[in-house]
Amino acid sequence: MNFKEHIRVIEDFPGPGISFKDITTLLKDGPAYKAVIQELAKRLAGKKIDCIAGPEARGFVIGAPLAYELGVGFIPIRKSGKLPGETIEADYALEYGKDKLAMHKDAIQPGQKVLIADDLLATGGTISTSIHLVEQLGGEVVGAAFLIELLELNGREKLGGAEVISLVQY
Ligand code: 5GP
Repeated sequence: MNFKEHIRVIEDFPGPGISFKDITTLLKDGPAYKAVIQELAKRLAGKKIDCIAGPEARGFVIGAPLAYELGVGFIPIRKSGKLPGETIEADYALEYGKDKLAMHKDAIQPGQKVLIADDLLATGGTISTSIHLVEQLGGEVVGAAFLIELLELNGREKLGGAEVISLVQY
């Protein structure tokens, strides 16, 4: 399946000069959504993964069904203040200003092999912060999986050598 055909590109969103990759057009198409998850699962076959962690909010849309497909648990990485239990937090840079991502302190057992999943890899800021949180909890990041990768931003280079899988590149 040509996944790119299902992704809508909206120019100048959320600001001038930004070419936003809108995945809602793909998500609403059942066979396309299913094919994305199955293709990611196929590329991860044989890899030892204990659980998948994904950042709010679009990381849930890719990470949770992928975890279900692989038969492993899903761990949400959330914005600060949303998780009810004891958390650890890390700052990450946004285009304007910064925000915090958080995980439950008991989300991961030390030594667990964790795959990180999100819809899109741009600068790599969101995922490098996610990796940092997982590692702080003693998890071993075995890779990162994305639907989309924006190649010119070189986000991969920020991910410290973690194996990166993406299905669609711009
Ligand atoms: P990064 O932290 O790698 O610079 O940006 C990636 C994060 O921003 C991802 O969590 C992703 O959901 C969001 N993001 C940035 N640009 C886009 C875009 O064009 N389309 C979508 N769907 N998400 C984006």
